[in-house]
Amino acid sequence: MDTYRELSIGIPKEYESIRATAHRFAKEVMRPAAIELDRMADPQDVIAPNSPLRQVMKKAYGLGYHVAGIPVALGGLGLDPLGSHILHEELAWGSVDLSIAIGVAGFPAMIAGLSGNPDLYETIMKPFIEDREAKFIGCWAITEPNHGSDQLMVGTPEFHDPKVKGEVVARTEGDSYVISGQKAAWVSNGTIATHAALYLRIESGSPNAATGMSGGGVAVVPLNLPGVSKGKPLNKMGQRALNQGEIFFENVRIPRHYMVVNSDTYEQQTMATLTMANGGMSTAFTGLARAAYEVALDYSKERIQGGRPICEHQLVQKRLFEMFTKVEACRALSRAVTVYNSSSGAPSLQHAIAAKTFCTQASFEVANDALQIFGGNGLSKEYPIEKLFRDARASLIEDGTNEVLSLAGARHILAESDGHGHA
Ligand SMILES: Cc1cc2nc3c(=O)[nH]c(=O)nc-3n(C[C@H](O)[C@H](O)[C@H](O)COP(=O)(O)OP(=O)(O)OC[C@H]3O[C@@H](n4cnc5c(N)ncnc54)[C@H](O)[C@@H]3O)c2cc1C
Repeated sequence: MDTYRELSIGIPKEYESIRATAHRFAKEVMRPAAIELDRMADPQDVIAPNSPLRQVMKKAYGLGYHVAGIPVALGGLGLDPLGSHILHEELAWGSVDLSIAIGVAGFPAMIAGLSGNPDLYETIMKPFIEDREAKFIGCWAITEPNHGSDQLMVGTPEFHDPKVKGEVVARTEGDSYVISGQKAAWVSNGTIATHAALYLRIESGSPNAATGMSGGGVAVVPLNLPGVSKGKPLNKMGQRALNQGEIFFENVRIPRHYMVVNSDTYEQQTMATLTMANGGMSTAFTGLARAAYEVALDYSKERIQGGRPICEHQLVQKRLFEMFTKVEACRALSRAVTVYNSSSGAPSLQHAIAAKTFCTQASFEVANDALQIFGGNGLSKEYPIEKLFRDARASLIEDGTNEVLSLAGARHILAESDGHGHA
């Protein structure tokens, strides 16, 4: 289906053409590439020099999709939050895994941009913005082998528990930081990334230093520095077009100003990043839910049982209508949260978490219902729904498990209702 109804009235004309271009790219380039990548038995082939992953990334950068929200004056596409939502829903409709690879690529540049430091602008932000060949690929390196949910419990007492400490550590040495430790195999773009937004613990002698996970820092780290090495690409169940893998740091030296966020602002900055990332996930999985709904709708018109297309059977109709309702609810919530959080001076983490948990759960349910509509064919790799189902399943864990995110979200609601900024 090439035109899915838009309920927002008065969308600027240019956004319709952005949507149309993105839809064509998603349909003709991203979706076939993601299916091909999904079927590769060895994830090493996914990242081969001329693989469909590399080609899609190159074309997406060529279209400026990696810098969609960056102002035109700086070299981006200059999309406002609504335009960005439209674009990213469309890309994820084509392939949620590849759309996440494109989205996460900008994390180090975004962190570098927080510093206002001219050297970081020249060496990190500018090359990323100007890149049209996917030579500069970023990652968000936060999860560690022994710290998954621990890293995302922002605003909760657990986050301040001195017994819970991250394992990638930076220590000061003159004008540098020296970093050692390991990030988990779950880092998206992990083995293809050229740069990391690295979440770590800063060793500090100060008695006032924040404790536990809250006492961290965020550094921008070029991954060609001496002492950096990578693991094998992760072999996983869904989103197989999204490369993931471990990154190891052994006495990696970075200039002091590459530590953009220190322990004073770490928790606040992690909240801001999680707010942005969870909002992005809600948009992406709106796209996936829509894709699953649409393939099931088409199939229900083709498949004949009992002498008529299955869409004429009432139970199938009821299922289709419930799926449609969930897609609309996902789009409305994810769009409202994206626009609010990107425009407001006080973005809301609990709303971003609500959008992420709701849209990923709904996309999983829609994909599950779609698979049921396909009957036995739904389980076959010949049909697209089997991949969408696996991709949606991963989202209930990605960027924080929905359970743990809900706990953090509840803390924020309670704190706000007590009149405090956060718990
Ligand atoms: C597709 C995908 C992409 C990802 N991309 C990235 C990325 O780009 N960068 C990155 O760094 N990481 C990434 N991750 C990692 C992701 O953020 C973690 O998997 C997630 O935070 C959960 O951590 P964990 O897997 O270690 O599970 P654990 O934290 O070990 O949790 C295991 C189980 O225990 C439950 N649990 C844990 N703690 C609590 C608690 N305090 N209270 C109640 N229940 C609890 C969880 O809900 C879960 O069911 C990605 C993961 C996936 C699946």
